[in-house]
Parts: sequence; C-alpha cells; structure tokens
Amino acid sequence: MHIEFIERKAAVLARPTLKCLSEVATINPTTGCSHQCAYCYARGYSIYPGDGRVCIYKNMAEKLKKELSRRRKLPKYVFFSSSCDALQPIPQVINLSYELMSILLAHDIGINLLTKGRIPAKFLDLFQKYKQLVHIQIGITSLDRNVQRIIEPYASSPSERIRNIERLCAIGIVPEVKLDPLIPGITDTNLNLQALFSILQKYGINDMGINYLFLRPYIKKNLYTALRKTSFLKEILEHYQKSKSISLLAEKSRVHALDVSYRRNSYRNIADLASTYGINAYVCGCKNPDITEEPLCGINWGKHFENIPEQRKLFVM
Ligand code: SF4
Repeated sequence: MHIEFIERKAAVLARPTLKCLSEVATINPTTGCSHQCAYCYARGYSIYPGDGRVCIYKNMAEKLKKELSRRRKLPKYVFFSSSCDALQPIPQVINLSYELMSILLAHDIGINLLTKGRIPAKFLDLFQKYKQLVHIQIGITSLDRNVQRIIEPYASSPSERIRNIERLCAIGIVPEVKLDPLIPGITDTNLNLQALFSILQKYGINDMGINYLFLRPYIKKNLYTALRKTSFLKEILEHYQKSKSISLLAEKSRVHALDVSYRRNSYRNIADLASTYGINAYVCGCKNPDITEEPLCGINWGKHFENIPEQRKLFVM
C-alpha cells in the first residue's frame, strides 16, 4: 500500500449527500481506503487516488480545531466515514482518526463510527470515557472467512469484527450491525444469515440495517476483477440481469438495483428471520427509495436508544 500525506484544502466537516445524514457532518481522514472492498462505491469518486494508494490529510486535526472554534453552532454529531474507513489498518490513519475523535468528543460532539476494521484498545478507552456521545456500527455480512476475503480482501476478518462487538459490549456499548451490502445468492442465504444472527444474538445485538448491493459501471468492473475466478460472479450477474435503474436519496446518484419485488420479499424474509433471534432488521430507505422514501435509520435509532435519553437526543433527528 502506498501512503501519501496531502493538505486538506476544503472544510474538514463535509455535508453528506445521503438524505438520512443531511443534518449532520461527515469526516473522511483519507482519500482511498486500504480495505479495497470489491463493491466499494467510493472507488469511483473523482478524488479516489487509485487502488493500492491511500492519501492521508496531514493538516486535518489542526484544521478541525480551527473550524470548530469559528463555528457559531457545533454539529450534534459527526459521521466517520462516508468514503473511507477511519480504522483501516495503517498506523498513521489510526492515529489521525483517534486525534479527530478526541477533539470532537472533547467539544461534546457525538461521533457515529461505521467500520469494518479492528477497533484498537485505545479507542475502546476513549469510547468508554465518552459513552453517551458514541454510536458504533459494525459492518459485517458473513462469518465465512473465504467469502469475506474475496469481497473485502483487506478488511478485518469476521472473527475480529465479532471480537469488536464483544469488546464494545464489555464496556457497555451495544453496537448496531450493518449488513450492507448484501450480495444476492451469497450473503443473503438462510444458512449464512442464521450463522451470523445466532452469534449476534449471543451478544445482545438488537438492531441492524440491511441493504442490497447496487451496481454502477465501476462497481461491476471491480467485482468482476475480484470474483472472476470464483463461481460467485455468474451468480451475481444473473441476479442483476433484471436490475432497474433507480435514484438513491442522494445527490446525483443513479444506480442499478435488484428488481424491486426481489428486494421487497427478501428484506421481509430477512427481517422475519432476524426477529426470531430478537433482532430488529430495518431497510436503508435512502438506498431503497422505490420501497420506502423515508430514511428509516432515525426511527430505528430511536428504538435503539430508547432507554438512553442522552443518546436518543443526540443521534435521532
Ligand atoms: S471499508 Fe468502506 S470505504 Fe473502505 S473499501 Fe470497504 S466499502 Fe470502501
């Protein structure tokens, strides 16, 4: 992996394009992401530095402090990270993410972290100290190491992600789980989901967001490259033969999505299956606007934080 340090010229706190995040700010400590997930939509962004390259914003912590001191109104919380993973396994990224989170938390600003990386011990200490300001989402769609290696080659293993959940629960933070993106015929099978749900149930996970893979030309190309020697590719492409072009609830975002009735039925089946494990599974509304036009995360986060009024006030719009 080639690491480069660059200057951040634009504001550190950016406005997200997804409707469900439109009221908050996002922060991306890098362009590029060492996890190199085959389905990653950020690999098609104009600022993407290319595979095998991660650019770290060297001036971001200082810039964030200045930005916060100038703001009349501070954001309620900040989302890490919409186009990279704040915990990708590069020490300089980990250190920068830690610094950025520490600054925000010290300003009483909440953080929402979505990660497929391993959470280092010092972050757990930080999260424990600021428990009421932290919302963690763990991305995981399978316990199968072989499947994960193919679709998310440099992200943490399923067992490391389960270990994240275990360690978070041990400090009193029950994370939410994101099954995003589910890949039809591969990670949406009953066998795969039952194995995953039974482990999640063990740790008392009660909420998960679900969403199917959508395709754009470059996602298709990356998937083709990652899966060309496997039987998965044929299976995936067959599922997307009847795909439809839809607009996400995000700026300028047209994608090819699975047929709406396939998604609707499958989401219902997954939610029914999850409920037998005591887990509430909800569909990402912004990415499935032909099923629901409502971003449902707010409603579901409301339930997630039902008994924690401080977090409810912070993370539920
Ligand atoms: S972790 Fe997220 S940002 Fe990084 S490659 Fe995977 S999908 Fe893209």
